[in-house]
Amino acid sequence: MENFKTELDADGILLATFDVPGKSMNTFTKSALADLSAIAERAKTDVEVKGVVITSGKTTGFCAGADLEEMLGGAWEAKSDPNDPEGALKAGFTAAFEMNRVYRQLETCGKPVAVAINGLALGGGLELSLACHYRVLNDGPKTQVGLPEIKIGLFPGGGGSQRLPRLIGAQAALMAMSEGKSFKPKEALQAGIVHEVVPVGQEVEAAKTWIKTKGDAVALWDKKDYKIPGGGPYHPAGSQVFIMGNALLRKQSYGNYPAVVNLMRAVYEGLQLPFDTAIRVESRYFVNTLQTPQAKAMIRTFFFNMQALGKGGGRPAGQPKTDPQQVAVLGAGMMGAGIAYVSALAGIRVILIDRDQAAADKGKAHCEGLIKKAVSRGKMTPEKGQGILDLIVPTPDYGQITGSDLVIEAVFENAELKATVTKDAEAKLYAGDKADTAIFGSNTSTIPISLLGKASGKPENFIGIHFFSPVDKMLLVEIITTDKTSDATLAKAMDYVLKIKKTPIVVNDSRFFFANRCFIPFTAEGLHLWSEGYAPALIDNVGRMTGMPRGPLEMMDDVALDLLVKITSETAKAMGDAYVPIPGEKEVADMVADGRLGRKNGKGFYDYPEAGGNKSLWSGLSDKFTVTTAEAEPELVEEIKKRLLYIQAVTAARCFEEGVITDPREADVGSILGWGFAPWSGGIVSLIDAIGAAKFVEELDALAAKHGDRFTPPQLLRDMATKGETFYGRFGKKEAKAA
Ligand code: NAD
Repeated sequence: MENFKTELDADGILLATFDVPGKSMNTFTKSALADLSAIAERAKTDVEVKGVVITSGKTTGFCAGADLEEMLGGAWEAKSDPNDPEGALKAGFTAAFEMNRVYRQLETCGKPVAVAINGLALGGGLELSLACHYRVLNDGPKTQVGLPEIKIGLFPGGGGSQRLPRLIGAQAALMAMSEGKSFKPKEALQAGIVHEVVPVGQEVEAAKTWIKTKGDAVALWDKKDYKIPGGGPYHPAGSQVFIMGNALLRKQSYGNYPAVVNLMRAVYEGLQLPFDTAIRVESRYFVNTLQTPQAKAMIRTFFFNMQALGKGGGRPAGQPKTDPQQVAVLGAGMMGAGIAYVSALAGIRVILIDRDQAAADKGKAHCEGLIKKAVSRGKMTPEKGQGILDLIVPTPDYGQITGSDLVIEAVFENAELKATVTKDAEAKLYAGDKADTAIFGSNTSTIPISLLGKASGKPENFIGIHFFSPVDKMLLVEIITTDKTSDATLAKAMDYVLKIKKTPIVVNDSRFFFANRCFIPFTAEGLHLWSEGYAPALIDNVGRMTGMPRGPLEMMDDVALDLLVKITSETAKAMGDAYVPIPGEKEVADMVADGRLGRKNGKGFYDYPEAGGNKSLWSGLSDKFTVTTAEAEPELVEEIKKRLLYIQAVTAARCFEEGVITDPREADVGSILGWGFAPWSGGIVSLIDAIGAAKFVEELDALAAKHGDRFTPPQLLRDMATKGETFYGRFGKKEAKAA
């Protein structure tokens, strides 16, 4: 047996230790399932075996679920075969049902089966545990259990959608599965997901004790008197769960996620059926989900791409790995303080510099506030918090920069000021023992890096390191190179970003780089709609229906209207005659002049009550543009949705054409982490790939004819349409997975 080691003890308990060779973490492959099936068969037929305990031989945890690579490699997938559509579907079902079949075989083997969960058990790992009659969990700091499939566009397809509701009730189970929630040991015990929590190292013994003392070989749901906790779909209370749950899930997902809909269906239908039929229904919905473009794109982006970029996917080859120990941050304002915090959090010493001591101290105080919050929420011990704070040295003294591996400049957005501080800082950075290895990064959001680099004595060491606000929460960092930036500098900047546990994407220098360049047109399209007489409520509602986290107008409030006005006026200045004004920009400028700055001062497109609570649209909006369309038929809603999403996607395509971004994985991950681009799509270029270049070009041409040149597809898209190419096909040289 390749994946499990088995050992029969003197009491007749068969200990099966899951330990996939050559892997740091256990996952379920076809081969591991075959082994488990053999174990179940032995338990059933071998009279010596009185019971089974399953545990893991890995220090990393119990099991992370099904092997996605194998699943998407076709083994689990219903391949469409034009000659035999029925047969292909059946094959897909059989493959997907195998996990259910084997887990059920174990559950009904006639001997008590206990699981000793010695660490993380997610997805198929928890589903296996749910098929065991008794569950012991250790209380290790990294131990957690959960069914997170929804986060990658799937839902639990190894019996989880059937066993969890039967165990803890439909409401609690639906909440856990639709959020992909993970439970720490204590929470798992309280929720009734496990029977017992024991100190690390005692889980196998506790599982064996249960078999010897109580050992019940019949699952809860196979007992005659079994009732679904809280009632099933036809129970008066249980039915409420589905009526409310349906509405709630619809409200949260706007029907954009097939996995959410199929989860609900599987639970609703499954709970009305005998268990063995219920798991077949689950598998059918699972195969159906797996075949959707949304699931394929989400798995690719959220699993494979994020993993690849998290390991430095775009890092130039052949550059030695570096490990920055000290960073100097210039400017202790909102961004600088945030950068100081995330750096110190990763154990990096930070010299936090501002114009005077008081300003630098203010930056450190901001970090202290973040630490206090984390401590009060139990996410950090006070000692750890103090340790992080001790790493931050606030000072106005540029002399302290010497010895740093990296400077990050985050002073006011002013090119002259940035040039001055660059010169002053470089004089200290390129002195001392790090003089030959240190690099300089700027966090500018709008000024071209090549322009700022002119102030540098070592332009090959000069790079953009663009964070997003709030720095402690936002996971994306754009790294901007110029034609002078060396590969060594790029590698060092990436090593720093990876060390602070953010995801870097590499962008070539251009106005607004990648993220802001694609995001700003979303807000601008909101202004177009507003000026065309669409009701602001309609615009933002449809905006949210696209899967964007917020509508364009409320998003503008969140960014700050004065900042957007400043960006607009600077863009106009920089572009000169080529600038095409956006209808509505004057009205927004007037709002700013009247003191409506957005969420930050409680007044923007919306009014934000001081005492908290729901925001409401500002009544003055209708004085700016008369509302002529307050309601929209489904067809019009679809058109507005397309306008809001496609204007971003066509901009991303232009970025590829211009070489601003070159890797579809970075574009997809960047769009989701940077500005929350409709996650159901798998990201901004996956959206185009799923539509198909030819159809996308056709739709863009139609939008351009109706709404203007901003929708006109770039030549790149027309080429791709002619050749039938996708972004992953054309640009995905770096081992693009799946889909
Ligand atoms: P901020 O006004 O909050 O902070 C700027 C800080 O720089 C202030 O504390 C100021 O005292 C300090 N400073 C000015 N001159 C200095 C000098 N000579 N030496 C040292 N410190 C000096 O601004 P912010 O929002 O933190 O933005 C900083 C930079 O980050 C800007 O380039 C901005 O474009 C960029 N950025 C901002 C955001 C955002 O959302 N705010 C996002 C990404 C990038």
